[in-house]
Formats: sequence, C-alpha cells, structure tokens
Amino acid sequence: MSSPPEFERQLERTGEVGTLLLVRPEHLDRRHPERLGLDRESDLLLTVECRADFETPPSHKQRAALLLASLRSHAAALEEDGWRVLEHRLTDPFGATSAAEALEHAASRLAPDRLVALRPPGWRDLEALEALSLESQLEIAEDPHFVTTPEAFAEWADGRKRYTMEHFYRALRRRESILVDADGEPEGGEWNYDSENREPLGDEAPEIPARLEHEPTEIAATALDVVATELSDLPGELAGFAWPTTREQALAELDDFVRRRLPHFGRYQDAMESDEPWLFHSRLSAALNLELLDPRELIGAAVEAFEVGDAPIASVEGFVRQILGWREFIRGIYWHQGPSYADENALEHDGNLPDFYWTADTEMHCVAQSVGQVLEHGYGHHIQRLMVTGNLALTAGIEPRRVDDWYRGMFVDAFDWVTTPNVVGMTLYADGGVVGTKPYAASGKYIDRMSDYCARCRFDPGERTGEYACPFTTLYWDFLRRHRERLQANPRARLGLRNLDRIAADELEAIARRARELRQTWGVIES
Ligand code: SF4
Repeated sequence: MSSPPEFERQLERTGEVGTLLLVRPEHLDRRHPERLGLDRESDLLLTVECRADFETPPSHKQRAALLLASLRSHAAALEEDGWRVLEHRLTDPFGATSAAEALEHAASRLAPDRLVALRPPGWRDLEALEALSLESQLEIAEDPHFVTTPEAFAEWADGRKRYTMEHFYRALRRRESILVDADGEPEGGEWNYDSENREPLGDEAPEIPARLEHEPTEIAATALDVVATELSDLPGELAGFAWPTTREQALAELDDFVRRRLPHFGRYQDAMESDEPWLFHSRLSAALNLELLDPRELIGAAVEAFEVGDAPIASVEGFVRQILGWREFIRGIYWHQGPSYADENALEHDGNLPDFYWTADTEMHCVAQSVGQVLEHGYGHHIQRLMVTGNLALTAGIEPRRVDDWYRGMFVDAFDWVTTPNVVGMTLYADGGVVGTKPYAASGKYIDRMSDYCARCRFDPGERTGEYACPFTTLYWDFLRRHRERLQANPRARLGLRNLDRIAADELEAIARRARELRQTWGVIES
C-alpha cells in the first residue's frame, strides 16, 4: 500500500482545531490572523496551492512563481510568528483542484468550531466557497487591505446614474484627509494634475534608474524550480525573475520607488519607450495585490515625499490617484456589478486573439515591444495595456472573454477584481460605458505622440490605407465605421465620427477592405 500524501500526513498529525483560516496568495498580510481574532495555540492556518490557479487561464510562468514563492514565504513567516500552519502544496498527490476543495477536505478531517476565509479575489472563487457543504458555516471576512469596502461602494453608487471615478476619488480624499487642507480643499489648489502628467520621454528626460533586482530567496528558488519542472507548459519566460516575494523585499521596492522614481513618475506616467519596460513606474502593483504592502503605506510614503519637498504635487497626486482613486474604484465596480460582469459584450465582438499576443512576433513595433516585455517580465505599464495591446484588441473586435483571459494570466499583478473591470470596462467598453465614458480607441498617431515606437516601425501612423498604413490607424477608422450607429448617442465620440464623415466614400471602402484583410491574416475572423 502506498503511503498517504503529505497533506494527509499533516492532517493526521494536527491536533484539535478551534478556528481554521484559509490563506491564499492574495492575502499575505501577517496581521490577518490576529485581526480576525485567531489564537496561536488553538487555531490553524491552511495555505493552498493548486494547479488550476495557474492553468485556467494559462498564467505567465513568473506570475505562477511569484504566487508560489510569496505564499510559501508567508507560511514560513507565519510559523516564525508562532502560528500553526498546514500547507497544501501544488505537487501534493492529494491534488486539490481548488482552494475550496482543500478547505472542504481539511474541515471534514479536523472538524473545527469555526471556518474563516477572507473575501477571495473574484466571483468564481467566492461562489466556490459559498457552495461548499460544511459542518460549520464558513465566515467570509471583509478584507481590511483596502481603504474602502464593497458595501461602502454600493452605498456611494446607490441612486447615481453614472459612476464617475473622479467623484468617488475626491470623496475618499476628503474622508481620509489625504492631500487636502483643513477646509477639505485639495493640496496645491487642484484635485487633478493629469494635464501635467502626459509627456513623452523626449531628449530632456532624466536618466531612468535601473530596476531593483531581488535575488531569489531559498524559498523563491525552490518555487522557481517547481514552475520550471511542474508548470513548464505555461507561457512567458522564467529567467530574469526578480519580483519581491517577501515583505522585506517589497518594502525595499517601495523605498526605491519613492527615492528614485516618484519625482518623475507623474510627468512621464503615460510615456512609452523602446526597450524601457519600467521607466518611472513603481512596479509595486504585484506586491500590493498580494498584500505584501498596504495601500495606506504607499499613499503615506508618497505624501511624505511631497511634504518634505522630495517630489512635486503632480507626481504625488498622480500616484495617489492610481492607488486611492482608480484601484479602489475599480474594485468597487467589480463587486457591485456582479458575476455576470465578466461576460458583458456590449459591442458584440467575437474575434479570436491573434497569435502574436503569445509570441510578440509581429512587424508592429509597438506591439512587439509591449507583448515582448510581457513575455519577458509579466509586466506592462498602464498605457501599454490600455493603448497598445488593449486598443488593438478593441479595434480589431476580439471577444472580451478571450482578452480578459490573456490579461488575467499574463500579468504578475493580475487578479479578477482588478483585471476584469480594467479589461471588460475600461479597455474594451464591453460594459457599454459603466467604467469608461467612451471607447478608448485611438489611431497610431496617439502611440506616435507618446513613444518612440513609430520612428522604429515599418508602418506609418499617419497612413490609413496602402502598404505602409499603420494597422492601428486603419482599424481605428474601421472601428468607428462599424460602430457609427451605436456611438452616435455618445457626445464624447462625436468628434471622431465627424472626422469619419470627412473621409471620402472610396477611401472608407479601402479602409474597410484593409481592416478585413488584417483581421483575417491575424485569425481574428475567418477568411
Ligand atoms: Fe505601432 Fe503603427 Fe506606430 Fe507601427 S506605426 S509602432 S504599428 S502605432
């Protein structure tokens, strides 16, 4: 008879359990057990790794390594803190296919008095937990790692016709007294410094600091080996992994950002540059979404840099807006809109995702750069995500579900609550305007203005048809043509439609023909 799996052995060795707490890779704050009222002597923490987390949708190898390494490091840190920890490893022959299954099995064996899980990262996980048949009722605790809660968002949203991020953000700044004076007015006189934060890199830009490289810890090195051997079919490259996997490394990354990048972050936050994946961006989103860092400490560090004169208000406000404004807003939208939100498809797009999203093999230099760095690092900054890979998916008419799967798998910071509303709502306008006030479709001229990409490309962003026509430009005009009727009711789309009306009928036909050829060549639509 073969010996029982390690998970079973651990269960056999575990004594009586008062409370059993499920710990997942998105809840790595060491304070959680105490905040939830757990006791080191009587209670047990269950960490769960499983293949399904990385295989559906296919996860970038670095994302899988980051989650495994961070969860295992967290388990070790909790044990150091005196907690009892039970680990279900990805390679365990017990082979739980989901966190819910591992929890159900552990609960049936241990019969704890109380079962607790923090709010999971998405509707699928929440529904799986809620569907469990357990002796004790499972308590889903609110995650204190956010500045606001889904309930508070629902109260704010109640009775509003439109959900405007700017209104939500200002209310939160006042409530939390962040960058406001004693009268509740904005620091520096303005709520929004976006107009100062839209510069391309140009010749005058300061030198871009080198990335802070984190030498993998022993635990991280083991996790990298697991990915290399057990998950070798996943996309993306593993070599060059340098993401923070511990709280200490994440704090070093925060310090590096505030000292070396934040002063220039705002000005160049929308810029793109060949072979410069990081620019002045923080690279903190993964550590933040894993809860190795708290949003309040990021905001506090940035505000302090402003107060001591180390960073200008436009940079600091731009950063605070991303964390306190956009991040909290988008999470509120996700939980407020419900589980069907991920399937919305207001523009009725049903195209396939082109192969170059997996290979970066394309003559479009902007796409080769943006996808190439995703494959190399599991990372792209917000303008690459929105205006290059996202803009192309929108204007080419790719099915939102397929695009969402790509983003949910391929970025190290991806979780459903943050990725789905950013993709389905903001990027693809598939929610019909809940998140964005208009589709973020743009021609190659936008990319040319914000980057050096077009200067190094064989296509011309100013050309709509012909051999050198930029595919973004062709698809942008064709997108407006195909959706003219639907967009007419939207005041923010009218300028684009007026310009469309100025294009002669024969050129419009040529645009439609070329757009169709592109979509067929890429496999978006059938030939
Ligand atoms: Fe991208 Fe078009 Fe510019 Fe080429 S010309 S880099 S395809 S936007």
